[in-house]
Amino acid sequence: MVYDVIFVLGERFCDHPLCGVAILKRLLEKNNYSVGIIEIPKTEKDITKLGKPNLFFGVSSGSIDSMLRNYTALKKKREEKEVLNYTQEVPDRAAIVYSNWIRKKFKDSLIVLGGIESSLRRFTHYDYWQDSLRKSIIFDSRADILVYGYGEKQCLEIAKRISNKEPLFGIEGTCIKSRELPKGFIELPSHEEVSGSKGKFCEMQNLLDNNKDLAQKTGNFYILQYKFPKYSSKDLDEYYELPFTRKISIDYLKGFEFSVVTHRGCIGNCNFCSLKLMSSGRIISRSEESILKEVEYLTKLPYFKGNIDDLGGPSANMYGMDCDKCNNNCIDCKKLDKSHSRIIHLLRQIKKVKGIKNVYVRSGVRYDLANDEYLEELKHHIPGKLKIAPEHISPDVLEMMNKNKGNLDDFIKRFKKLGCGELVFYFMVAHPGSTMKDAKELAEKTKKLKNTESVQIFTPTPMTISTCMYYTGLNPKTKKPIYVPRTYKEKKDQRRILG
Ligand code: SF4
Repeated sequence: MVYDVIFVLGERFCDHPLCGVAILKRLLEKNNYSVGIIEIPKTEKDITKLGKPNLFFGVSSGSIDSMLRNYTALKKKREEKEVLNYTQEVPDRAAIVYSNWIRKKFKDSLIVLGGIESSLRRFTHYDYWQDSLRKSIIFDSRADILVYGYGEKQCLEIAKRISNKEPLFGIEGTCIKSRELPKGFIELPSHEEVSGSKGKFCEMQNLLDNNKDLAQKTGNFYILQYKFPKYSSKDLDEYYELPFTRKISIDYLKGFEFSVVTHRGCIGNCNFCSLKLMSSGRIISRSEESILKEVEYLTKLPYFKGNIDDLGGPSANMYGMDCDKCNNNCIDCKKLDKSHSRIIHLLRQIKKVKGIKNVYVRSGVRYDLANDEYLEELKHHIPGKLKIAPEHISPDVLEMMNKNKGNLDDFIKRFKKLGCGELVFYFMVAHPGSTMKDAKELAEKTKKLKNTESVQIFTPTPMTISTCMYYTGLNPKTKKPIYVPRTYKEKKDQRRILG
């Protein structure tokens, strides 16, 4: 069989809505395109096993950057079994390796890059593992086009354009190489400029915006970013209602077979997080009807035991906080609907569905948004302990993280008073701005809090604001110098002090 589209993936595929490529596959099939999957190719010969596709190869390293997957925060090669329960071998810079294998075997085939590794390397970026700047991944991969963020609309449009022999320029949510700078594009400092000046690198960081058409000159080319497409509730309803078998073959997803995704996006804008660079920065919630329809469908599956494993999204309690009236920062906006009325109503409605015993919320909860009414409902849905991620307690470090929004002690008090059970905490050390004194304060706090589930050392992943701070030693907004724990010794010391 000759497939229209072949996806090459750096992780196991499962036909489940938690797997992004499964959504793309099902959606393309709904639109009459045939789709093949090559999972974790080990050699260039593996790339050839389904032949050449009629339309394009889609290449992704999977749901995590391959360098983050293969190395610890201190750049030590990870042991296979440690790696987030992955057990397969993925090469360093997998997206580049796979694309070049394709180029070698199928010279004239079209290559579409996608996934987190490519999305976050679409312009010049600091690569922590190499400790230097790299050009857009489009150059090293020799791909024809790059899809950033969720790729449903982009993949359908690319498939249509190739079928109709139309050019690939102008597709929202993509990046492409061009000799020309089109009108209306905001020009970022060039690759050559940011390579020679940390101040220019900060300027580039401040201009990154998914809702704008951007361009960056690199040598004789421009990398063009077409702004992110608008997704609606209706779009999400369509995608999550596709006919997945929901069989899970990936270890780290086991136990999440009966999870239901309620929304996309996050309005938290934490400086170390890449989510904002993968979406429009707004919440898009599915309709309650569509979610209930999915839950009813789950109750009819033969192996369903009555439990929804997780009802959530990037932050479980942001469901229903949709607003797209302006371009400002939602989390600080008085107009943001923080009532939690939609998520409370949804949880109550799902409980009423015949065959449902428990609706668990395992996704993280943004504690600084959670009001008492929500907590009263949430306490019936916590599977053991509720996870929250204050990340730090020092006001200065929290400001650097853009996480200085809530009052942790007040939340813990309310949580206990309402009899919600136990909390577990996630913290981060060695973020830019964090000194040993801050780490000691955090250590004191964690002793009192007891239930610290995880303390991670900050890893500078490509294109985030925190990574810009790490690389430049500057606060990009003010261009003032900031303290950066850079040596392995200090990173380890900050980690060790927390026990
Ligand atoms: S009005 Fe407020 S909540 Fe709505 S989009 Fe603007 S900043 Fe966000």
